[in-house]
Amino acid sequence: MLKRIISYAHELMAATIEPGETVVDGTCGNGKDTLILSKLVGESGSVLAFDIQSQAINNTRTLLVTEGINNVRLIQDDHQHLAKYVEQELHGKIGGAIFNLGYLPGSDKKVITTSTSTIKAIDTLSEYIKSGGLIILVVYHGHPGGEVERDALLEHLKKYEQKQFNVLQYGFINQRNSPPFILAIEKKYV
Ligand code: SAM
Repeated sequence: MLKRIISYAHELMAATIEPGETVVDGTCGNGKDTLILSKLVGESGSVLAFDIQSQAINNTRTLLVTEGINNVRLIQDDHQHLAKYVEQELHGKIGGAIFNLGYLPGSDKKVITTSTSTIKAIDTLSEYIKSGGLIILVVYHGHPGGEVERDALLEHLKKYEQKQFNVLQYGFINQRNSPPFILAIEKKYV
């Protein structure tokens, strides 16, 4: 009955993203979320997919080519710089965004997302996201450095203005080995 973390993140995206929208994958990694986003927005929409590592960009490109997807712009850059790309592409609002935090599975565990750039990216997106839209963070915190990012994010998002945003924390508290949890930021209709 209770939704597992990754399935719930995907359900949230599917419930709020519409065909034709522009959406963001802040950490494309091996491309699984990018692929889901690209299918949700369809051929008339577009996905801006960021990653700082060329290996991640290449892995995602390979997956998208295999799947015959051509509505994704792959951007090898730090997601804290996303404003400049969003402004180039956007003709309305961002329909939704996802950030899978941590390191690229099967790769260098020292290259991790950090609170400074993650918070900058989220704060920027919070301006561009549509009313009713979600910024979803899947927070992995079991690796070295993960707990620092987790604590900084929780501290920062607790201060998000309640009149403008709902911020949800969803996770299991009785699992071993620091299981991931979701932080979902919903922009309210004001
Ligand atoms: N969502 C991905 C998937 O479905 O395969 C997994 C993402 S993985 C957990 C985290 C990714 O964040 C890594 O590929 C890493 O290179 C990337 N990353 C780390 N810091 C980043 C930053 N500042 N900007 C963009 N990407 C970053």
